[in-house]
Amino acid sequence: MANINDNYLKLPGSYLFAEIAHRITNYRKAHADADIIRLGIGDVTRPLPMASIRAMHAAVDEMADAATFRGYGPEQGYDFLRESIAEHSYAMRGVSIEPDEIFISDGAKSDCGNIQEIFGQDNRIAITDPVYPVYLDTNVMAGRTGELQENGYFSGVTYLPCRAENHFLPQLPKEHVDLIYLCSPNNPTGAAMSRSDLAAWVAYAREQEAVILFDAAYEAYIEAGNADIPHSIYEIDGAKEVAIEFRSFSKTAGFTGTRCGYVVLPKTVKGRAKDGRHVPLHPLWNRRHTTKFNGTSYIVQRGAAAIYTEEGQAQVRALIAYYMENARIIREGLQKAGLTVYGGVHSPYIWLKTPGSMLSWDFFDQLLQEVQVIGTPGVGFGPCGEGYFRLTAFGDRERTQEAVERIRALA
Ligand SMILES: *Cc1c(COP(=O)(O)O)cnc(C)c1O
Repeated sequence: MANINDNYLKLPGSYLFAEIAHRITNYRKAHADADIIRLGIGDVTRPLPMASIRAMHAAVDEMADAATFRGYGPEQGYDFLRESIAEHSYAMRGVSIEPDEIFISDGAKSDCGNIQEIFGQDNRIAITDPVYPVYLDTNVMAGRTGELQENGYFSGVTYLPCRAENHFLPQLPKEHVDLIYLCSPNNPTGAAMSRSDLAAWVAYAREQEAVILFDAAYEAYIEAGNADIPHSIYEIDGAKEVAIEFRSFSKTAGFTGTRCGYVVLPKTVKGRAKDGRHVPLHPLWNRRHTTKFNGTSYIVQRGAAAIYTEEGQAQVRALIAYYMENARIIREGLQKAGLTVYGGVHSPYIWLKTPGSMLSWDFFDQLLQEVQVIGTPGVGFGPCGEGYFRLTAFGDRERTQEAVERIRALA
């Protein structure tokens, strides 16, 4: 019999969303026609920008004609998309990134999960608490952690608690770490790191020879004109030697089901080989990516590139404005109801303190049973999330308004 990767047995199973589904099913058994509003899962609901739809239709037509048909494309992505990204997402913000430092993928979840493969087994990882689960779970699978302990933490991992008193921002670790996962604007807390917050991390990484894995999946939600919150970690001097950035079209342009994201890996980021040499990470990731991935669909890359047209930019702005208006409705509505509410400004996530310091799951049950509104218990993102609750702004406008009114009636 084949041996398994025992590291998988360390994982507690995908408890969070399975448990939510289970509780909803149970509730429905007794209340078959309950009108449930879901503000739980972080998925978008609005249709794709028309510019993307048109570009994808045209790309499908190209596939129908032998003269314009495309088979395998470059694994790293087509130049038209890499060049558009380098220009619009970086050069226009004063950051110089070469198109060949951009690797197109099927989304940031894969990228955030796969990146750890190019790093050694013995690196110490740091993650925030609460956290997007992918960073931690993929390191558990790779054997870079010990066992899950009773307190909810894996041994061998440096957790960076994110609490209200620090505006839910991680503080620099006291010990040395090698790989640091940061996500700003943050899922689940909605907190966004300022220029000086991020500069402190870049300085730490340079001093400790660590690498920052920066998840910028929500950069498009940063309030327009806010100069203090970087969209890219490369807006910080010195970051191009110590940071890898992850981006996605999922939340920016509604591509959660269409699938497209990218990694930015500057050629100047290095790691240490066993023999002590300093080795650039770019060729390692290029090797991994081209060996294990055969490229994002041409049609999808055309759809993604279309968001950089003038028409596409306007449509993306409208899409984000729609969700951010929902965020405002939730944030202000719940504040008026007397709840303590965070996030929802540079982020589509509202992170609220449960009333009376109720446990996250007890508040989940109360909302489900008394007002039929679904959110996500904060403790599902890590022990520091206990006593908090996440609502998303990705819903329909009227349903969002209705959910807020119901919660206000409860409070
Ligand atoms: C949604 C999300 C992503 C993007 O995932 P895709 O695979 O690109 O859809 C990445 N990171 C965080 C924190 C997210 O919430």
